[in-house]
Amino acid sequence: MAAVAEQQTTDEVSLYDADTDDFYQDVDLLQNHGINMADIKKLKSAGICTIRGLQMITKKKLCAIKGLSEAKVEKIKEGLMKISGSGGGFCTALQASVKRKQVFRVSTGSQELNKLLGGGLESMSITEAFGEFRTGKTQLSHTLCVTTQLAGENGYTGGKVIYIDTENTFRPDRLRPIADRYNLDQEAVLDNVLYTRAYTSDQQIELLDLVCAKLHEELGIFKLLIVDSIMALFRVDYSGRGELADRQQQLAQMLSKLQKISEEYNIAVFVTNQMTADPGASMSFQADPKKPIGGHILAHASTTRLSLRKGRGENRIAKIYDSPDLPENEATFSITGAGVDDAKD
Ligand code: ATP
Ligand code: MG
Repeated sequence: MAAVAEQQTTDEVSLYDADTDDFYQDVDLLQNHGINMADIKKLKSAGICTIRGLQMITKKKLCAIKGLSEAKVEKIKEGLMKISGSGGGFCTALQASVKRKQVFRVSTGSQELNKLLGGGLESMSITEAFGEFRTGKTQLSHTLCVTTQLAGENGYTGGKVIYIDTENTFRPDRLRPIADRYNLDQEAVLDNVLYTRAYTSDQQIELLDLVCAKLHEELGIFKLLIVDSIMALFRVDYSGRGELADRQQQLAQMLSKLQKISEEYNIAVFVTNQMTADPGASMSFQADPKKPIGGHILAHASTTRLSLRKGRGENRIAKIYDSPDLPENEATFSITGAGVDDAKD
């Protein structure tokens, strides 16, 4: 497995190099600009492993890293400027479209749902699925653990998954029948899913630095990061109106990290979310008086928001709630023993 993984890394990195200006430039490159290895290590331990990642961090945040003085941060920024060139981060729309070509899509297990999503879950962005209990959010998460490993369209080679579980609802054995459905080796499929459990919202945020380290360790190998569910712990750890501002600030930190990770490592991020009664809704003629929690912070962070509701029997209905480039359509899918599938009728 290790040999295969290595081979894949080299292939993919060279593929990206040919297409763009070095997708994954290591922060080690700063060594050529007078930054010592000890300081580079400090960056890495804060989850900053690539030049791209470094570009996404504010000076204030860098100064907050233990052992990095303002003078050192200045020097790091100078080195960064030299490596990333004088373009100041601008590129033409044509260059941007070349960059977008690296975007891949992960199948959801249901053709209809894939169609609704414009081909599947998109990399370099956050997809949020929200809905009441038993609407299939966790089942979809399990299915994605397997479908991410399948090769797909536009040269997508498949890859590994990181799963952050905040509700203790991950069941590895659920992956077995899903693997069978796609004729994949069960053990190999399970081996490609890296699982971790978060118990507090702080831990959930801190885990993302470890996620970065993993993504960096096996460059180009991981393709999907799942957080099921994104809000559960925030809901518990911050209670009442008095703590709402704090909660939203922490949530914003977490989501900003997720967004950066998705772009830095070209992975898809899938988060699930719960719903709450909307007290304002009874005053209006809203058809569904429930709304996803997390407020505007989450609404703006998710690139694509998918609302799930129950249909007949095992059927579920997904609706695009908010997307920059998808219409507000619906799709019906079903939950089966072998994961998410098309609805039977
Ligand atoms: P919550 O908000 O409580 O986390 P959820 O949206 O994550 O809910 P899921 O756990 O994904 O809900 O979905 C539960 C549904 O999946 C149930 O209707 C259950 O019948 C179905 N389900 C779970 N396991 C299987 C299985 N092995 N075979 C068929 N259906 C299953
Ligand atoms: Mg669930």
